Amino acid sequence: MINKQHIIDRFIGYVTIDTESDPKSETTPSTAKQWDLANALAEELKSIGMSDVTIDDNAYIMATLPSNVDHDVPTIGFISHFDTSPDFTGANVKPQIVENYNGKDIVLNAAQDIVLSPDYFEDLLLYKGQTLITTDGTTLLGADDKAGICEIVSAMEYLIQHPEIKHGPIRVGFTPDEEIGRGAHKFDVEKFGADWAYTMDGSQIGELEYENFNAAGAVVTVKGKIVHPGYAKGKMVNSMYIATEFINSLPRMETPEHTEGYEGFFHLHNMNGAVEETVLEYIIRDHDKGHFEARKEMMQKLTNELNDQYGREVISVEIKDQYFNMKEKVEPVMHIVDIAEEAMKQLNIKPLIKPIRGGTDGSQLSYMGLPCPNIFAGGHNFHGRYEYVPVESMLKATEVICKIAELTAKKHQA
Ligand SMILES: [Zn+2]
Repeated sequence: MINKQHIIDRFIGYVTIDTESDPKSETTPSTAKQWDLANALAEELKSIGMSDVTIDDNAYIMATLPSNVDHDVPTIGFISHFDTSPDFTGANVKPQIVENYNGKDIVLNAAQDIVLSPDYFEDLLLYKGQTLITTDGTTLLGADDKAGICEIVSAMEYLIQHPEIKHGPIRVGFTPDEEIGRGAHKFDVEKFGADWAYTMDGSQIGELEYENFNAAGAVVTVKGKIVHPGYAKGKMVNSMYIATEFINSLPRMETPEHTEGYEGFFHLHNMNGAVEETVLEYIIRDHDKGHFEARKEMMQKLTNELNDQYGREVISVEIKDQYFNMKEKVEPVMHIVDIAEEAMKQLNIKPLIKPIRGGTDGSQLSYMGLPCPNIFAGGHNFHGRYEYVPVESMLKATEVICKIAELTAKKHQA
């Protein structure tokens, strides 16, 4: 068995190092402080006995656990990110440990009256009787994704200490800047050299994800004509009214607040208008490639129609693809999902296979040639003060990693 206190100590060691990333920075890592944890992790990987530990100029860490069997086994990888979200402060994290959780409110901060309550966060009730790690209400926790790192390091350490568990070659990769969408950007897939990998970056115990949105961003620009309002008849063109026509012509129910599961949407996330010019910023999301393309076409068609109606070019749209559904890259190698599912079942974890309503580093990596489903890391309420993680879920995730390694070797026995 993996030692519970050891996991807690390791996790707390990570979350008390501030690694908040910064979308405004252009360097990699985006913040110098990410080096503090990155350098410590590289040292730790060496100290537990990993081979080929490297840390490159951008703070990407890679390491190998060599095979301990004679037969050929594909190389598998496990990946997580050590930065935390800029949405909420990650400085001076003071984790609190709630043992044998009783299913009631948890007072995170009495002075500021900050309470983590199952009235709001029903998921808490899944963990009655377990050990929870929470914040003190003033910072995020950083279980996203230091729980994932803790699980991968702990699993490697366990496999090193237990050579009776047979496995093929395993690669480990830790990245900066995932939270600002740049975790995969400078990931050297060739150097990593794995046949496939898993990001340990999901939430609730059991989560296993290999479908995510196709994503694009659209900027709609409407040109108007400003004239003195007293003498504007037949002359003024108010771009804000035309923009409103555009907005109202898109299906009102296909927005984030009206959709779930596999339902896609248009999301107007910013608008800036004056008579002369109005700019609308949208994101477009859909799991289905065909529907995704149709959404982009709908925007273009609407633009053309409005231009026809006004008899000149009053409106234009610029659409840029952002990322794609990894399903296309994972389905041809579905056994990599099956192995993870099998590992969970053998550990009495109920697999929760569902589409991600977002993207992951894994989706980018899948398109870079490294098929990469996502597995739970155990935390909840990411990017805010109510973030928490049950230690038991971290233990289970650690076991899942070991089990996937074991099953992969077994399946490729001569
Ligand atoms: Zn994450």
